[in-house]
This record gives sequence, C-alpha cells and structure tokens, in this order.
Amino acid sequence: MRKKIVAGNWKMNTLPAEGVALAQEVVAGKGTVCNCVNFIVCPPFTHLSEVARVVKGSGIALGAQNCAAEEKGAYTGEVSAAMIAALGCEYVILGHSERRQYYGETSATLNRKMAQAYAHGLTPIYCVGENLEEREAGKHFDVVKAQIEEVVYELTPEQFSKLVIAYEPVWAIGTGKTATAEQAQEIHAYIRQVLAAKFGAAAAETAILYGGSCKPGNAAELFAKEDVDGGLIGGAALKAEDFLAIGRNGFGK
Ligand code: PEP
Repeated sequence: MRKKIVAGNWKMNTLPAEGVALAQEVVAGKGTVCNCVNFIVCPPFTHLSEVARVVKGSGIALGAQNCAAEEKGAYTGEVSAAMIAALGCEYVILGHSERRQYYGETSATLNRKMAQAYAHGLTPIYCVGENLEEREAGKHFDVVKAQIEEVVYELTPEQFSKLVIAYEPVWAIGTGKTATAEQAQEIHAYIRQVLAAKFGAAAAETAILYGGSCKPGNAAELFAKEDVDGGLIGGAALKAEDFLAIGRNGFGK
C-alpha cells in the first residue's frame, strides 16, 4: 500500500508567529481527515524550530523547502541537511521548479543535495515537471524522464525506497490552471514506468504527488486516479481549512 501524502509548501510566506498559528490550526483540524493521510508542513527555515514544537506528537510531519549541497563550512547563507534534521525535519523538498528556475539548480546540484538529505536521514520530496513551452511541444514525457534519470537513477535501491516524487507542471504552479485528472494520471503512470525501468517492483511503492493549483475543489478528482498518491500544495496550504479540506475531499474523513 502506497502512502497517501498531503504536503504543504509554504514557500516564502508567513512570519514566524503566523506560521505557528497556521500549524496550530492544522493540528487542531487533523481529526476531521482520515488518519490514512500523512500530512507534512514545510515552513520557511526560520519557523522550523517553533513549528516543530507545534506539530510534535500530532502525527503531522515537518519538512524543509531546501537544503545545502554541502555538508558544512564556508557557505554563507546556506542551511545544511544536518541543521534541518536536528530541528526535527523528516522531509526536504528538492528540485522545486522555483529553485531550478530562479536559483539555477541543476541535476548535478540536486545529486549532491539528495546525498546530503539521505546522509542525515531526511526523505526527499523530489519535484519534476515541464514548463508550458515544453508541454505545448509535446516534450513533457522527455523532460520528466531526464529529470528522473539524472537524479533518481543515481540513488541506491535503499535510498529509492524512501523517496517521494512530486509531479508539478510549471504551468500549473500558482496559476490557478490545474492539470486535468487525466493529464495527471497519464504522466504519473509514465513516471512510475520510468522508475520501474531502473528499480523494478519497488516503483509500485513510490508515492507520486501531484502539485500545481491543487485545491479543495479538485483534490477528489485528482487523488482518485490510480497513480496520484496525494498532493504537494502551495497556495492552498496557507489556509489551514483549505489544506485540511484537500486531504478530506481527496481521501475521506
Ligand atoms: C508548489 O509550488 O509546490 C505548488 C504546488 O504551488 P500551488 O499549489 O500554489 O500551485
């Protein structure tokens, strides 16, 4: 049985006190959602320590939005995997399209970040997805295949067994445009096939999340698809009721 996951990527939003309040609301409402759902909240680095205290013992896991490619040392402004693990993070989002686009993250960087994450016991949520131009040119399958081959294929089978993948078409992120459930299923099934080509039967156990304008109103249709195991949620994760409703509508009470 694959894990059902609803993960919130808060991005660079909320001040620390607001983040604590948001996490408290999510904890308070968790009981209204099927306990089959694994909720993860990924606040900014600056809130991790306080949000860790709020979610402790609630069954809601904590994740970071990024980590450094290096272990430690003279890397001004970077935050290491060891640091976020020490604050109680279990997950780290890697390869988000905003990191690829605005901060020039390449597969080579991501290989090193993945290694750091695993070395410190973190589970990466590895994001893949094509931009609009690539989708319109019919290249989306090739784009995600390359993003998987260049990074995921470098993992050991043991590392792979912990990995979570998020398929996030860049044209759907923060745009209000969602992939149809059929489009999501088509590419999720393809991603699983690409994973299986390297890792065999283990690919059947990998949670593949959909991300891109996922909301309470479209979660049920998306998550009903066979290869869609939940969502990575941006905007709608900033309202506890919407975030919880995505879990509830997608997977039940
Ligand atoms: C994201 O960036 O991970 C995301 C899914 O954003 P949104 O839900 O706002 O489209």
